[in-house]
Amino acid sequence: MHQFSYVGNKLHCEGVDLAEVAALHGSPTYVYSAATIADNYRRLAASLSGLDLRICYANKANSNLAVLRHFANLGAAFDLVSAGELQRVVAAGGRAQDSVFAGVGKTEAEIKMALEAGVYGFHVESEPELERINHVAGRLGMRAPIAIRINPDVDAKTHAKITTGKSENKFGIPLKVAAAAYAAAAKLPHLEIRGVQMHIGSQLTTVAPFVEAVKKVLPFVLELKATYGIQYFSVGGGIGIVYEDALASGAQAWWDGKAEGERPLTPEVYGATLQPLLAPLGLKILLEPGRFLVGNAGVLVSRVEYLKRGSGRNFIILDAAMNDLVRPAMYEAYHEIVPLARDSARPALVADIVGPVCESGDCFAKARTLQEVREGEFVAFMSAGAYGYTMASRYNTRALPAEVLVSGNRFELVNTRESFEAMVASERIPSFLKS
Ligand SMILES: *Cc1c(COP(=O)(O)O)cnc(C)c1O
Repeated sequence: MHQFSYVGNKLHCEGVDLAEVAALHGSPTYVYSAATIADNYRRLAASLSGLDLRICYANKANSNLAVLRHFANLGAAFDLVSAGELQRVVAAGGRAQDSVFAGVGKTEAEIKMALEAGVYGFHVESEPELERINHVAGRLGMRAPIAIRINPDVDAKTHAKITTGKSENKFGIPLKVAAAAYAAAAKLPHLEIRGVQMHIGSQLTTVAPFVEAVKKVLPFVLELKATYGIQYFSVGGGIGIVYEDALASGAQAWWDGKAEGERPLTPEVYGATLQPLLAPLGLKILLEPGRFLVGNAGVLVSRVEYLKRGSGRNFIILDAAMNDLVRPAMYEAYHEIVPLARDSARPALVADIVGPVCESGDCFAKARTLQEVREGEFVAFMSAGAYGYTMASRYNTRALPAEVLVSGNRFELVNTRESFEAMVASERIPSFLKS
């Protein structure tokens, strides 16, 4: 559920009319709902309340400092994949000491920074990485807390680019050689074996792959507890959200109207299914959700620049492009697109919805039916709170979009639209080109 809905015919985020945000801050602009983020977080925490649980919000889904502070206030820790993300958490006032550091390519500098920040666990993806962490910790006279990422080789049944738990993916260490990797870690003097981790993929809409993966690694987790006295098991992130019916799924009635087998995964089902498997372990359980917590808590507001009526094909050309929201171009992802001002008197229009970037791939939707829109009107991309702004680029020298956070009737700019000066601030013309 989420807090985007029409009040009368005007699309609101909580108590704020999105047209007001667009009028004040322009477009394209990401708008996030603080209440939706809090509700998602609390529902997930409540669904696993019988466990010694720590939710480590996966920063990469949406790492705006305001969003990170909101999570810190809610009691979350963080899942980090770079030094930059660690610095963001510290800058936002989040607790690095409760957070975990993941990723297949940690550099020496990143390991050093994470050790000095006192992260709770390094999630190690290879044996050479164990050696490197040991080496850096030794140099600093420290012991690095580690957990090895197990690749359980299950099919998450999601898009190939966001599947991570199959043996052909670059992530983790196969279960059959994991015992040897832990034995190798135990021999390294500057490591402390603290946990075990897995993450099988993103945008999972059924609980079955999670169950399969947890069941597959459980015996090994118990073995690690007996051998090394590990403290925690991180089951990763990956809970999916609703994209197709994104607007309607804001209301409880939409969920209630679905038959048991057709309802997308809810945190309640996730928790009720996994809790009985995890509770007997007697370990701290870490979750690393990203998309689930913020995905349906954000929209991208964009202006209609042109309506181009072609022979046999109409194009709605927006001021947002693939550089602002790359998911459709990159993953063939679906985003529901709705007008900020609904008008039932308008005829329906079938159109390709595209951005202004010089790439055929800069297409958000093909042959989409929506209410006829006119130049200067605004639309919203639903479910754009995760992997939206964080994947944005400056392609075509387009400035990074603005970001706004809503809470109740209030809204504030939490990231200014980038200026041209900021875009080129670090670029230089070398002396040998200056005549
Ligand atoms: C990306 C990632 C997550 C978050 O995935 P979501 O699908 O957004 O929940 C969690 N853990 C790891 C290790 C990741 O790489």
